[in-house]
Amino acid sequence: MSIIVKKFGGSSVADTEKLLNVAHIITGAYDQGNSVVVVVSAQGDTTDELLQKAAEVNPNPSKREMDVLLSTGEQVSMSLLAMTIEKLGYPAVSLTGWQIGMKTNSNHSNARIKSVDIERIKKELDSNRIVIVAGFQGIDKYDDITTLGRGGSDTTAVAIAAALGADVCEIYTDVDGVYTADPRIVKNARKLNDVSYDEMLELASLGANVLHNRSVELALKYNVKLEVKSSFNKIPGTSVKEVGKVERMLVRGVTKDDDVARISVVNIEDTPGKAFKIFSLLAKKNINVDVILQSIGRGNTKDITFTVAESNLEAALEILNDNLSYIGAKSIEYTKDISKVSVVGAGMASNPGVAALMFEALYNEGINIHMISTSEIKISVLIDEDVSDTAVRAIHDKFNLA
Ligand code: ADP
Ligand code: ASP
Ligand code: MG
Repeated sequence: MSIIVKKFGGSSVADTEKLLNVAHIITGAYDQGNSVVVVVSAQGDTTDELLQKAAEVNPNPSKREMDVLLSTGEQVSMSLLAMTIEKLGYPAVSLTGWQIGMKTNSNHSNARIKSVDIERIKKELDSNRIVIVAGFQGIDKYDDITTLGRGGSDTTAVAIAAALGADVCEIYTDVDGVYTADPRIVKNARKLNDVSYDEMLELASLGANVLHNRSVELALKYNVKLEVKSSFNKIPGTSVKEVGKVERMLVRGVTKDDDVARISVVNIEDTPGKAFKIFSLLAKKNINVDVILQSIGRGNTKDITFTVAESNLEAALEILNDNLSYIGAKSIEYTKDISKVSVVGAGMASNPGVAALMFEALYNEGINIHMISTSEIKISVLIDEDVSDTAVRAIHDKFNLA
C-alpha cells in the first residue's frame, strides 16, 4: 500500500462535472488500496474573482484581510469535493490549512511554510478516510490565516507529501505535463517525459507556472517524487527527477515572464557606494532585484538599471524617489511594458553557441534586446512585452524544440 498525494488545480475542479471526474480519479486510487491525500485549489477563476471583489471595496486592502478572503476559495472546493466523494459512497473528510497545522511565517500573500503537523491527516488515513486538504493556505504564529502566493497549492501538496513520506506527489492540471514552452503560446511545443529538479526549478522560476517554483524547491530538498499530468486524460505526464536520470538535451525549454518592471536610476554621480545605497534601500523593503545593468560612466555620471516584480514596482519607486538626494541621482525612470524571455537547460555556460542562436532568433524577428542575463542553467533577455509571444515562438523554432 502506498501513500499518494494528488493535487488538483482550479481548472480540474471548476464545476460539478469536473468534481465528479476528479472524484473518480481519487476513488480509483483508493480502491487499489492506497492512502490518498488530496490537495485542491479554488474552483476555476475564483481567486481572481475574489481579488476583483476586494478591489471594489478597497483598492488597497491590508494583506491580512486579503488572505482571509482568498483562503475561502480553497475551502469551497475542498468541501464540494468531499461531498462529491461521499455521494459515490466513499468516506472523505476535508481539512483547512490550520486543521492540518500548516504553519507559515507572517509574510501575508506570499508566506513560507515552516512546518506541517501531520497528526490529523494520519489519524484520518488510519480511519480509512480520503483526506481532502485546502491548498495555498496556512496559519502563522498569531493564528492568522496566510496564503502562499499565486499557484501555491502545488507547494502545499509537496509539503504534505514530504511530511508524510508519500510515495509520489501527483500534480493534476489542464495540460498533459511540462512542455518545452507554454503550449498556449507555442502550438507545437513538446511534452518532456522527464526533467531534472534543477531544470524544473529554473523553468518554474522563469515563468513556466505549470508548477509553483517553491514546490519544486521543496521537492528537491525532501526528495519528493513529482509527476505533472492532466486530469482530463490518462496520457503519462512529466516526472521531475534527480539529475542523471533524465534524458539529455541541452535546451529544455523556453519561458516568459510578463510580471517584470524595469527601473533606471539616472545620472548618478560616478563615485563608489552608489549601487550599495540603491540596493540596500530596496533590501530594507524586502524588494527582490533581478537583472542589474550599470552603464559605463560618462562625464561624472552613470545610470543603474534593474528589474523587479511588477507587484514591487510602486514600493520600489517610492523608496527611491524619497531618497534621490541621498543616492545622489537626478531622476528615476521606469516601465512595466517589458517581459523576460529565457532559455533553460543544463550546461549553458560552456556552450556559447546557445546565446548566439537565441539572439539570432530575436534579430530575425526584429526584436530589440534591452538587457541580458546568463547563468549556468539559463539565458534571459528583457524585451518589449508586446513581442514576447513572438520571441518565445521564434526561439522555440530556432532550437528545434518541437
Ligand atoms: P492549475 O490551475 O492546474 O494549477 P496553472 O494554470 O497554474 O494550472 O498551470 C497550468 C498552465 O501552465 C497551463 O495551462 C499552461 O498554459 C501553463 N504553462 C506555462 N508554461 C508551461 C510549460 N512549460 N509546460 C506546461 N504548461 C505551461
Ligand atoms: N487558488 C490559488 C491561485 O489561484 C492557489 C492555486 O491555485 O494554486 O493562485
Ligand atoms: Mg498552478
